[in-house]
Amino acid sequence: MQTENSIRSVVIVGGGTAGWMTAAALANAIRTGCTITLVESEEIGTVGVGEATIPPIRTFNEALGIAESDFVKATQGSFKLGIQFVGWGAQDSTYFHPFGSYGRNFDLLPLHQYWLAAKARGDAPPLDELCMAWAAAKRGKFAQPLPDPRSVLSTYDYAYHFDAGLYAKYLRGYAEQRAVVRIEGKVGAAVLDGASGRVSHIKLEDGREIAGDLFVDCSGFRGLLIEGALETGYQDWRHWLPCDSAYAVPCERAGEFTPYTRSTARAAGWQWRIPLQHRTGNGHVFCSGFISDDEAAATLMANLDGQALAEPRKLSFVTGRRNLFWNRNVVAVGLSGGFMEPLESTSIHLIQAAISKLIALFPDRDFDPLVIDEYNRIAINEFERIRDFIILHYKLTSRTDSEMWRYCGAMDVPDTVTWKLEHFRRNGRLVQRDADLFGPPSWLAVHIGQGNMPHGTDPLLPLRGADHADHLKKLEAALARAAEGLPSHADYVARNCAAG
Ligand code: FAD
Repeated sequence: MQTENSIRSVVIVGGGTAGWMTAAALANAIRTGCTITLVESEEIGTVGVGEATIPPIRTFNEALGIAESDFVKATQGSFKLGIQFVGWGAQDSTYFHPFGSYGRNFDLLPLHQYWLAAKARGDAPPLDELCMAWAAAKRGKFAQPLPDPRSVLSTYDYAYHFDAGLYAKYLRGYAEQRAVVRIEGKVGAAVLDGASGRVSHIKLEDGREIAGDLFVDCSGFRGLLIEGALETGYQDWRHWLPCDSAYAVPCERAGEFTPYTRSTARAAGWQWRIPLQHRTGNGHVFCSGFISDDEAAATLMANLDGQALAEPRKLSFVTGRRNLFWNRNVVAVGLSGGFMEPLESTSIHLIQAAISKLIALFPDRDFDPLVIDEYNRIAINEFERIRDFIILHYKLTSRTDSEMWRYCGAMDVPDTVTWKLEHFRRNGRLVQRDADLFGPPSWLAVHIGQGNMPHGTDPLLPLRGADHADHLKKLEAALARAAEGLPSHADYVARNCAAG
């Protein structure tokens, strides 16, 4: 039974990916005694991008009881084994950031230490060839990983590409079936309670008023409540993450149906390619200080697989985060909380992480500062660790062919990034911090892929008494064999989750 102090009404402002993910998850968590209302404006619309994800999205869907095949069908989805980076280190370089690991550790030193030693002897396969995700991805293959830890087919992970609009629609159906009430309307203002300073209600432009105990701000970059009403403040990270704009455009599906996202570096930014069942999503993320809008749009349109299906749409943003993600009785989820650009497809993950924290630290009507502080502590850590990983891609460039890449190669980075860079540079050690979302294989992929070769190996390595060169060769061969036996990505989708 609810208590005197229980939250009785949650109001979600915004119906993009953040709004409907929040509504669906809260509807699943709150079974009685509390209403959930979502207000959105069709006229304002959503940001309409955000189509590549990382593996934890699967646990979000599973927690909601959503079947994978149903979800992939409904969202014109496809599968993602990682990201291929083209031209990020040197202009002609390519590497893969895989979901999963490089083989499996077989010794008390990590496998990559033996790879570094073999590389120094001129006897190592390319690092990419030692991960199952790439072995499958480069052959255009996909199947679910196996649970048997003895099989190399257990050493990878996967996520999805999907149509962002269809995903929100799918979750809306889920949430409305579980009593979430949707209100169509434009929020004009938020009214604060004089005594507590909390938001007491929002006013729609047509005069309706919606009161609530807890407000979740999913209004996108505007941050209607967290900033508009509460003036929480924003940390601008553009000196580390200089891209501040994007053009996005869908095109006809042509070329390979790759089970991975491609990120191709351009002179003043980078371009994404996300293959879905019914179309391919494309976007050019760029730094407006180094290229004009016209040139940025033209670069995108000149580099599509197939016929464009719309005019390119411009989006502008400031990379960074709110000073607080939870302020008084408002929790900012999604773009209202901050944005770090889409390079590693982390925004939807941060929505998911915000919702899990909100459920784990669900307040009562006292809004205990202890709870709010804990939420903000974890959220800030999560944001900053992801920030560090994205910065690594820009910092570790050897490109000098354009102003933006020269800026990035020379820029100062946070101490937390320098610390990791230096450890790796010395002897290939992958040191970790609490709350790192991206683990050692991810950092290894970017370090090596972008040319940050360590000066030496772990000092323990020569004392181990074996070089395990054979192990690496056998692993490469085993991965190739296993990948050959998998179905093609196209066949897998056609057989299991074709959108029809
Ligand atoms: P929005 O989609 O902007 O939704 C805001 C909602 O608030 C809308 O429903 C709007 O109508 C409503 N609203 C606003 N003002 C009012 C008002 N006054 N009254 C009523 N309603 C209002 N993330 C990934 O994980 N992977 C990616 O590949 C990826 N790519 C991206 C590429 C780009 C260029 C950008 C900019 C973002 C990308 N993202 C990506 C981020 C991702 O798009 C967002 O995290 C996600 O869509 C959530 O957005 P949102 O719901 O917070 O905001």
